[in-house]
Amino acid sequence: RGKRAFIAGVSDDNGYGWAIAKSLAAAGAEILVGTWVPTLNIFESSLRRGKFDESRKLPDGSLMEITKVYPLDAVYDNPEDVPEDVKANKRYSGSSNWTVQEVVEAVKHDFGNIDILVHSLANGPEVSKPLLETSRNGYLAAVSASSYSFVSLLKHFVPIMNPGGASISLTYIASERIIPGYGGGMSSAKAALESDTRVLAFEAGRKHKVRVNTISAGPLRSRAAKAIGFIDMMIDYSSANAPLQKELSAEEVGNAAAFLASPLASAITGAVVYVDNGLNAMGVGV
Ligand code: NAD
Repeated sequence: RGKRAFIAGVSDDNGYGWAIAKSLAAAGAEILVGTWVPTLNIFESSLRRGKFDESRKLPDGSLMEITKVYPLDAVYDNPEDVPEDVKANKRYSGSSNWTVQEVVEAVKHDFGNIDILVHSLANGPEVSKPLLETSRNGYLAAVSASSYSFVSLLKHFVPIMNPGGASISLTYIASERIIPGYGGGMSSAKAALESDTRVLAFEAGRKHKVRVNTISAGPLRSRAAKAIGFIDMMIDYSSANAPLQKELSAEEVGNAAAFLASPLASAITGAVVYVDNGLNAMGVGV
């Protein structure tokens, strides 16, 4: 049978999560997505109304099918973690079972197991502030939404992942090199995500035969990236300075993710794989 993938962090057809879903679907996987609760209605209605039909097209001409969309907020592990004001918020009270533990229980109930887990989400409320001006709460929120969310998703999903399964997250080179403007503790959150990739590769590999890798992606004009505010500059910088002078497409990251999730990558785990037109290898701008 085909593989089953759960992709956390799909709210529109512009981001890396959508592109990864498409590449996995093109390779024959069944697609389940986790959509951030506040964006659930707009995503589902756009999907239903055919707004994404053009971008659902796969190389063979068929349209990507999303078998099920689960509401998800990956900063909460179970209902006891959810503060009263969030519970009462209209955008949240309209959906249910969206904490990590509940989503995994629902997937288990609906499908039994999965083969592939993709984490394509991040959030840093103070991303536009330099680290020196970041509050403790802002920093911890960035790490909670962008790093621990992966630990939590893998922790809850790994018991229902088939041996030989794989997980993938998305990181950014600001974890290891100075990228002014990527603030609010987001650089710290990506450093944690990359370190966790290695430790979790060991733990999930030994215990469950599941591989754990992360893709260090180049700049893409996604909704999240536009919110940071310097994405056009980063795209121009990459085109000017990277070994490959072309704009990076989300599909190129999707295809690398499909490779990493496939048996072709059966000996690759604990790795940070650069999909960035080679920009990471440069020492100076030229
Ligand atoms: P995106 O906006 O498509 O994806 C981010 C998603 O995270 C959104 O769908 C948002 O709804 C979701 N999200 C935020 N908080 C959440 C929460 N608490 N629970 C569940 N979902 C939540 O943008 P993207 O740029 O494609 O981001 C995907 C990943 O790629 C992120 O990890 C990002 O850091 C990484 N990345 C992006 C770039 C870039 O230039 N765009 C470069 C390198 C890495």
